[in-house]
Formats: sequence, C-alpha cells, structure tokens
Amino acid sequence: ETQREAVLAAIDAVAERLSAEKSYLTDLDSAIGDADHGANMSRGFGAVAEKTDELDGDIDDVVKTVGTTLISEVGGASGPLYGGSIMFASQELEGGITAETSVAFAEAYLDKVQDRGDAQIGSKTMVDALTPAVHTFKKSIEQDDLPPLTALAKAVDAAERGVNFTVPLKAKKGRASYLDWRSVGHQDPGATSTLFIMEELLDVAS
Ligand code: ADP
Ligand code: MG
Ligand code: MG
Repeated sequence: ETQREAVLAAIDAVAERLSAEKSYLTDLDSAIGDADHGANMSRGFGAVAEKTDELDGDIDDVVKTVGTTLISEVGGASGPLYGGSIMFASQELEGGITAETSVAFAEAYLDKVQDRGDAQIGSKTMVDALTPAVHTFKKSIEQDDLPPLTALAKAVDAAERGVNFTVPLKAKKGRASYLDWRSVGHQDPGATSTLFIMEELLDVAS
C-alpha cells in the first residue's frame, strides 16, 4: 500500500466519522457555542473526501490540499485553525511519512494552532486535547523509542484525557468564552473533534 492510499483511506475514515458524529458535535457546540461545529467539520471533511481525485502529487501536496480545502469549506474559528495548521504542517512531510516526519508534522500543527488561536492549555479549546497528544507522541518516539503505532495509541489516550479536562474549565477563547462561567461543565467541541480525528488516524494505521 502506498502512502498516498493510506492518506486517502484516512481521509475517508475521518469524513465518515465526523459525519456520524455530526449531531453529537453540534450538541456540544449548542451548549457553549453556535451549534455549527458538527456541520462545519462534516461539511469540511466531506468536501475533502469528494476531492480525492484531485489529491495528487507527493504526500505533502496531498496533505496541503486537505488543509486548503478545509480552509475554504469549514469556516468559523475551527476552519482556519484546522485547515491553516494542516496546510502549514504539510511541509514537514516532504520526505514522505516516517516516525520522524510524523513528529515534525504534529509539532508544526500544534505550533500553528497555538500561534493562530493564541489559546493556552486550560483555555478550553482544541489545544487542550492536542497539546498532551503531541507531547506524548513525540516523547514516545524520541525518548521511549516506541513503535509509531504504539506512540499514536498513547497520543490518542492523552487526547481523550485532554477532552475530559476541558469539562470543568471556564472558556477563555472562542465563542464559549462569551459565556464566562456558564461554559463550566461542558465539553469543548473542538477538542472532541480533534480526538475523533486522531482515533480514526490510529484506526487506519492499525
Ligand atoms: P465557531 O466557534 O466559529 O462557530 P466551530 O464551532 O467550528 O467555530 O469551532 C469551535 C471550536 O473551535 C471550539 O470548540 C474550540 O475548540 C475551537 N476554538 C475556538 N477558538 C479557538 C482558539 N482561539 N484557539 C484554539 N481553538 C479555538
Ligand atoms: Mg460553532
Ligand atoms: Mg460558527
């Protein structure tokens, strides 16, 4: 199986999952936002999945097109964050997908999300799922010398803990921050979609 086929399979899996979770993500966003996160994400990845014929070239070009498509289709706060960060991080995959370039991709993605959104850990955003996931992935590969798949599984666990960690927080970024203390007790939609995407990447890689 070529890397391109693996990436296309991952896109399909993510699109299908986000479509299946559309109403769940919308419910989460209706509690502390504007009830569109499910629609945004499933429309965005649906568009990417429809475009697979155009996803040609080297693996970094394919991933870059995923990012640009998300930028144009998702909208809201999450569109530029997901799309722009995938687009930026795609450069790291120039040499193909290896353990090393995957870590570089993950770190570049996190950096860009933080850079664009200015959220910290504890701001109750996707950053709360992403940060522990990326750090766990990097440490598992670089320090603990674990196989990439094991590292990814640990990263998914870390993301899941990050999602749960958002529940008691008061939002400091995004629409949920307008609610002030009323955002407390609700799970962040963007952290949740980040976890779903990671779960599908793990599933396809396994
Ligand atoms: P919108 O809030 O514009 O309707 P979405 O509903 O699609 O966009 O996405 C909301 C999610 O975006 C939030 O749950 C949060 O995880 C994420 N988000 C919002 N603002 C930021 C930010 N500044 N930094 C990181 N993530 C953010
Ligand atoms: Mg929203
Ligand atoms: Mg919106």
